[in-house]
Amino acid sequence: MSVSKEQFGTTKDGVGVTKFTITNKNGMSISLLDFGAIVQAIHVPDKNGKTADIALGFDDIAGYEVNNCYFGAFVGRHANRIGGAFFDLNGTGYQLQKNDGENNLHGGDPGFHKVMYRGDTAGESSVYFERVSPNGEQGFPGAMEVKVTYTLTDDNEFKIEYFARSDADTIYNPTNHTYFNFLGHDGGDITKHEVEINADAITESGVGLIPNGNFIQVEGTPFDFRQSKKVFLDIEADDEQLKNAGGYDHNFCLKKQPREYGYAGKVFEETTGRGMEIYTDLPGMQFYTGNFIGNEKGKDGAVYTKRTGMCFETQFFPNAVNVPAFTSCYLPKGEAFHSTTVYKFSW
Ligand code: BGC
Repeated sequence: MSVSKEQFGTTKDGVGVTKFTITNKNGMSISLLDFGAIVQAIHVPDKNGKTADIALGFDDIAGYEVNNCYFGAFVGRHANRIGGAFFDLNGTGYQLQKNDGENNLHGGDPGFHKVMYRGDTAGESSVYFERVSPNGEQGFPGAMEVKVTYTLTDDNEFKIEYFARSDADTIYNPTNHTYFNFLGHDGGDITKHEVEINADAITESGVGLIPNGNFIQVEGTPFDFRQSKKVFLDIEADDEQLKNAGGYDHNFCLKKQPREYGYAGKVFEETTGRGMEIYTDLPGMQFYTGNFIGNEKGKDGAVYTKRTGMCFETQFFPNAVNVPAFTSCYLPKGEAFHSTTVYKFSW
């Protein structure tokens, strides 16, 4: 295991950005930026030993300063949507940015993926990024110490750990928004990938993809990924939930205790033999098939379009702060927040 450091460029404000790359003994590597705590590249061999970068993203900081699709993003303070961009905490109302119609998406822009962190190595297989998110940032209460630690093991596990502590009662729902394409970041359509998701139900979404509090049992629906299936099989089905989102963009209710660490799902791409298992201690996972990717000029001259990358965003259920039946993302003053998600690769 080793971690190397190099300059990645300079922000428009003239701040130097560092790229950290963790490499394991099997030839896998993960590259991370102290701008946005971004996952900039994931190099994985295939079954013939040919390595490719399987994460969508940019070659330069200018790309990440715009990054409308959240490529490789550490998302905070609140992943996914909050209905009406509003929540009430202890009797006080908090109005957030309406950056997705009437709703708030991913905390608001700029989010945690567009600020600088203090970054450093921790041992020979980890890198951490930390900062203090000021009280009121994006409209959320409490000054919050935020830290994310990325580790790559010799078992090909990419481990993401989120830590936080706030000086006032608040909410926190971080995620990672890496877009995977196991053919390679420039491999095009992802719908021939096989996906399995450990969920008997999804949260039903209403207007603006906000969960309406109902659950849909996946049995007999296009959302049944309890056994691996190719994504294209049902993605164009005549289904209102799919049509509203232009494909899969839904929260799966993982089959485990809400904060218990356990299996969330897996992906497999048969021509390369590359795959990944997902584990988390969060209650939900957004499976997003990149339906809204426009013409994004990415790494190595690649142009990313609709459904050329997919995300497995482990999370508290969307809008949980406004739905008492959902596991809460409430973070009381002074309490340590800790959560772990693992992407375990194979080939
Ligand atoms: C959301 C999508 C959104 C994407 C990029 C995903 O988490 O569910 O609807 O387009 O993030 O912001």
